[in-house]
Amino acid sequence: MVAADSQTILVTGGAGYIGSHVCKAVAEAGYLPVTYDNLCAGHSWAVRWGPLEGGDLIDAARLDEVMRKYKPAAVIHLAGLIVVSESVRDPAQYYLNNVSGSIGLLDAMRRNGIEQIVFSSSAAVYGEPEMTPMPEAHPQQPVNPYGTSKQMIERVLQDYARAYNLHSVSLRYFNAAGADAGGEIGEAHPVETHLIPLVLEAAAGKRHSVAIYGEDYPTRDGTCIRDYIHVSDLARAHVLALHYLDNSVGAHAFNLGNGTGTTVREVIEVARRITGAVIPVRLEPPRPGDPAILLADSSRARQLLGWQTPHSTLEQMVSSAWAWQQRAHAGQQVMV
Ligand code: UDP
Repeated sequence: MVAADSQTILVTGGAGYIGSHVCKAVAEAGYLPVTYDNLCAGHSWAVRWGPLEGGDLIDAARLDEVMRKYKPAAVIHLAGLIVVSESVRDPAQYYLNNVSGSIGLLDAMRRNGIEQIVFSSSAAVYGEPEMTPMPEAHPQQPVNPYGTSKQMIERVLQDYARAYNLHSVSLRYFNAAGADAGGEIGEAHPVETHLIPLVLEAAAGKRHSVAIYGEDYPTRDGTCIRDYIHVSDLARAHVLALHYLDNSVGAHAFNLGNGTGTTVREVIEVARRITGAVIPVRLEPPRPGDPAILLADSSRARQLLGWQTPHSTLEQMVSSAWAWQQRAHAGQQVMV
């Protein structure tokens, strides 16, 4: 696939938080992003840079229809369920959507002669860290069905590259945060579980307080350390991955993190400074399966993809998320 004006890229999950930012980055790179999404968690208002085709990953006939209509040069696959605790409670959904659904998508690609895919994977494939920061070669022992579902598809992609010439880049996201500077899109999950939007909802008075899950971790202030990465930097990596596949065959994986560890308390402090709000906190027990520290070694993505992270200071992530939240509150977006 050679980058060219109006080449079509099928983006599954393009109506979601990360997917909508990916569509914008794809459009800015000169492609036409076609979103394929069942809107179970995404929003039609977030699809702004190309058409929206409704459909389910497990609907083979619908996938064929959309692929025949647009003849995409490649697929970026982000559709999937993402709530870790839900995956523990109800793994069947996760294996059906994230595993069977993804295999159905790959098989539709084979039927339609599409040979390149960028897959939205996760740091959850690693499980409990044995070293920090974590390189791609870190052992993989996911501790929940969500992480297992991502690991399984990465394995499938390795086999499909060898057997079917279906070439792939799996991008292992760490903690996506922030919102696009244009103010049209941002984080709006049906059930919010992520720290930064919850902190900002507390700042906006939409919640009484924000929970701190555990304060006895072996970290500098006792709270968990995570590697937050701006969603616009994350989005740009998908375009670089498409370019990488122009010159590489096989199945590849890259970590996408900032390499800077931030504690839960540090997030709250920066949010207090940026919003000027008090942000009450309440202490709660650690969430099961939450490791003390998750930090990416993303040097491979920087070297091989030429990836950069110009938007990913904590201040930039929190302030862009705050600007988005205030716009959403002002009713400029309908958050459904
Ligand atoms: N966290 C927290 N309170 C919340 C939500 C999250 O203390 O209300 C902590 C969580 O334990 C983790 C970090 O914030 O250490 C980031 O959690 P998030 O759910 O945003 O992402 P995860 O790292 O689980 O993918």
